[in-house]
Amino acid sequence: MPLSRSAFAAGVLFVLSVLCVDVLACAAITQKGTQCKRAASPGSAYCWQHGGTTKAERERVALDALRKQREAEEAAKAPPAEKPRKAEPPPKPEKKQSDPEPTDAEIKAAWEAKYNAAPLYRLKDGTEIKAQRDVEIKDGILIQDFYGKWRTVQKSDILEVVKPK
Ligand SMILES: [Zn+2]
Repeated sequence: MPLSRSAFAAGVLFVLSVLCVDVLACAAITQKGTQCKRAASPGSAYCWQHGGTTKAERERVALDALRKQREAEEAAKAPPAEKPRKAEPPPKPEKKQSDPEPTDAEIKAAWEAKYNAAPLYRLKDGTEIKAQRDVEIKDGILIQDFYGKWRTVQKSDILEVVKPK
């Protein structure tokens, strides 16, 4: 992102002010007993030769300050982008513990149990019908066998009905 002109100018002025404001005289006393005539380094009571910061150090400090200023400006303009979140997989639908999917073996066992508990209609003509359902109607019994087929059996045609215990 390019620095705007006004921000750049402000930065240049800032650097120049740090480098050029050498208004205070060095506080050191020379061997002759007089005050040093050099200008004190910015932020120091002494010149570079008497312990004040060197020109290179002053430039570094000024550039550091400019860099921090720029960073602060950039941070103020654009808040740090959020890290793209990893797309979370949709939650798996939980199977109800109380309603588990029956296995084939369980279905077969359930049907066998139902078959074994079903009444067996023996007719006089030798026909045997395992009744999945049996409904008594007017003169007979409506029977659904285990193939799903419905038939009506006259009561007079029934030899016996075997009901498992
Ligand atoms: Zn000095």
